[in-house]
Amino acid sequence: MAIATVDPNTGNTIRTFQPHTDAQLEEKLARAVVGARLQRELPIAERAKRMARAAEILHVRREELGRLMTLEMGKLKNAALAEVDKCALGCRYYADHGAAFMADEPVKTDAARSMIRYQPLGVVLAVMPWNFPLWQVFRFAAPGLVAGNAAVLKHASNVPQCALAIEDVFRAAGFPDGAFQTLLIEGSRASKLLDDPRIAAATLTGSEGAGRSIGEAAGRNIKKVVLELGGSDPFIVMPSADLEKAAKVGVEARVQNAGQSCIAAKRFIVHERIYDDYAQRMARRMSELHVGDPNDESTEVGPLSSKQVLDDLDDQVKRMVAKGSKVLAGGKRLDRPGFFFQPTLLTDAGPGTPGRDEEIFGPVATLFKVRDAGEALQLANATKFGLGSAAWTRDAAEVRRFTDELQAGQVFINGMVKSDPRLPFGGIKASGHGRELSAIGMREFVNWKTVWIGEGGEQAFSGTE
Ligand code: NAP
Repeated sequence: MAIATVDPNTGNTIRTFQPHTDAQLEEKLARAVVGARLQRELPIAERAKRMARAAEILHVRREELGRLMTLEMGKLKNAALAEVDKCALGCRYYADHGAAFMADEPVKTDAARSMIRYQPLGVVLAVMPWNFPLWQVFRFAAPGLVAGNAAVLKHASNVPQCALAIEDVFRAAGFPDGAFQTLLIEGSRASKLLDDPRIAAATLTGSEGAGRSIGEAAGRNIKKVVLELGGSDPFIVMPSADLEKAAKVGVEARVQNAGQSCIAAKRFIVHERIYDDYAQRMARRMSELHVGDPNDESTEVGPLSSKQVLDDLDDQVKRMVAKGSKVLAGGKRLDRPGFFFQPTLLTDAGPGTPGRDEEIFGPVATLFKVRDAGEALQLANATKFGLGSAAWTRDAAEVRRFTDELQAGQVFINGMVKSDPRLPFGGIKASGHGRELSAIGMREFVNWKTVWIGEGGEQAFSGTE
């Protein structure tokens, strides 16, 4: 894929970038090793101070960074500004709590003193997607840099300007030279980087295919890897739910970011007693959404990020209709320049259809009718994915059952799945492994070093707890 900015609102290529040569890549890796050493030598309080500065810089450059996201992948203007704010929140969270998460943890044993120490691993390769071009990177980089690692970012090829701007934010925040660098390289060159001994670990957010490629390379080299992959999240609606709210939030959960979110609600599993009512409410809302220019504040659904994503979505919808799905709303691409698709509601998705078995990355929802909570759970879990899940009910027994039995990295009751720096984020099954965010995410890329000190050595740590 060419490294280029293509405006999804018009389809016009705005700027292309030459990929880094092997010599440039070599120079950046050498610099990353120095960056990792400088990072490790800084006290964590200093790294935290720089992360707090990164939050301030994001605040100052909010409009400019927001505009870049809109230009490169079509994010709605207000959503782009909110994304910059969320990144600043993430930076502040780890600036405030990072030191506590990395503090030595004394453990009572037969030793004079024993503890767990958390120490940085070195240079971490981050391979990231375009759908949240800033947040995906910050949610790894904020804890990673405060923990004392260095990072090299291979961002998606359609968001090079966002990638370079992020490097600039961390440089301006005062992180050491080489602590965070953007590599302009193609996906095919990313996995090979894991063969290089200077790369200690990798994190990838992206598709299953890219996850397999990075996961295999990490396995071959026995290196730590976190994989945040795709999802086909269920959104269960039971009779006791507030139907109007469940329809409003359900549509939002499906069409936010033009439906290009790993944790978007994708399969709407609705109890038969309320199915017709819920389907009507959703169809009405989907049809009323204003699709258009992401720079226009009245727009509710912007373009898809690329022609490829639009073509893939169009193909999925056509295959569903060919296999008997009914269209309750939308169903077609828009006849205008740029990469637009109508918000779409489909029913009757049988086994083997994209609505049931694939991830649909666009504003297309599929409705399923079930008889009871048991059937809802069975259908919800009948997927290779296990990222997010939501259930709408006010019945206490059902709340308990769904939180216990939904096979997913996260379960939201009467709400929409979203990430929050305070809570771990990630999936199971083909949605990946490992976690981001919270203390757990910060500890993914550190050595949990067990320290056991016998009699005579304990003074080394006296007064440190
Ligand atoms: P993608 O095609 O897998 O791309 C993600 C990143 O991987 C890009 O930087 C891409 O580079 C790179 N890449 C592609 N093929 C690769 C390979 N063989 N080896 C190494 N790197 C490779 O995914 P996408 O289309 O950008 O993003 C959408 C997917 O990401 C969806 O499946 C979505 O669910 C998932 N996602 C998951 C999460 C989560 O937290 N679980 C969050 C957001 C998105 P190029 O751009 O140069 O190809």
